[in-house]
Amino acid sequence: MTLPLSESIISAEAAYTSGVYPKRQVAIVRGEGALLWDADGRMYIDCVGGQGAANLGHAHPAIVAAIREQAERLISCPEIFYNDQRAAYLTELAAALPFAARIFLCNSGAEAIEGAIKIARLKTRRTGIVAAVRGFHGRTMGALSATFEPKYREPFMPLVPGFSHVPYNNVAAIESAVTGETAAVLLEPVQGEGGVHPALPGYLQEVERICCERGALLIIDEVQTGFGRTGALFAIEHHGIAPALLCLAKSIAGGLPMGAIAINTVLGPLPPASHGTTFGGSPLVCAAARAALRTLRDEDLPRQAAEKGAYFLERLSALRLPRVRAVRGQGLLIGIELKERVQPFLVALMERGVLALPAGPNVLRLLPPLVITHEQINAVIAAIAEVLA
Ligand SMILES: *Cc1c(COP(=O)(O)O)cnc(C)c1O
Repeated sequence: MTLPLSESIISAEAAYTSGVYPKRQVAIVRGEGALLWDADGRMYIDCVGGQGAANLGHAHPAIVAAIREQAERLISCPEIFYNDQRAAYLTELAAALPFAARIFLCNSGAEAIEGAIKIARLKTRRTGIVAAVRGFHGRTMGALSATFEPKYREPFMPLVPGFSHVPYNNVAAIESAVTGETAAVLLEPVQGEGGVHPALPGYLQEVERICCERGALLIIDEVQTGFGRTGALFAIEHHGIAPALLCLAKSIAGGLPMGAIAINTVLGPLPPASHGTTFGGSPLVCAAARAALRTLRDEDLPRQAAEKGAYFLERLSALRLPRVRAVRGQGLLIGIELKERVQPFLVALMERGVLALPAGPNVLRLLPPLVITHEQINAVIAAIAEVLA
């Protein structure tokens, strides 16, 4: 099969695309592990990782087989019916989240956040949501109300009422923001889009205690940190917390669109017809999600992320590059804060065969598949050293 070359793909897509995405001048057509190829056959080391959806790497044989087998059997089955794949996946995911008694399945990160906000209102009969400065939770109206970045929010005002933003990693700010009106506190365990800021040890435990004392729910957004990214299956394991609600998406189903809300035992089930979604928990995504969870365990990917992430951070820090203000991260969620704008360096890296992300205007973010090899990591470090020299 011959595919069209990059130039014709780019011009065809550019003519009709909505315009919301800042596009890179490359047409990606194939992937394997942590490698991607463009339509002209050029190879790249992928440190974008499907923006967090490709923790298992591209074209993982276990995911491909699960999708192929299930697609031949049954793709659609709404949750009004029971289904074998969904039953098995709920059992397996609940076993990985000991605090959770119930799970709502949906289709994206923003949808998981929307659902969690609704559940918090329903269960507490309060309306306030406390989120964090630099927090990112998605683009739909509720999730956007929790997102901090003014450039994302301001064109769409007025947003949902009752949201406030407090400085991250600041317990005193939570103490004063959480009141008898607060339905929930919503936080990421590592702020991803907001510049790669990990929660300090003890912070999330203190937030959990304050929520508990005041009858507010703790919602943890693990859309980006979940499924091995930070060196544990879930980042909450680093902090020893059991949130009221845990939001998951991105790498949950090996790259297929899926989200989930894990609901703490203390909250009990949801009232009938209080929420819902057509595609939620389809047999196809459940089969892929089962394969993803199994593969994360079989290949010990959380441990690999911890080890490779530590190596990455150590090597990057040792470079002592003059343009770099700070290097930080947890597992394979890595941020390199520059003293200048990051955009030109993303282009320069792409020219050297490395695809990377920004996190705000001056942070270079690396989000490689957890299966990235040490050889590939060394090549990425060499390219970064070269472009930032
Ligand atoms: C990406 C992301 C979201 C939104 O997920 P979508 O699937 O794009 O709607 C929410 N929260 C965090 C922390 C994210 O990184």
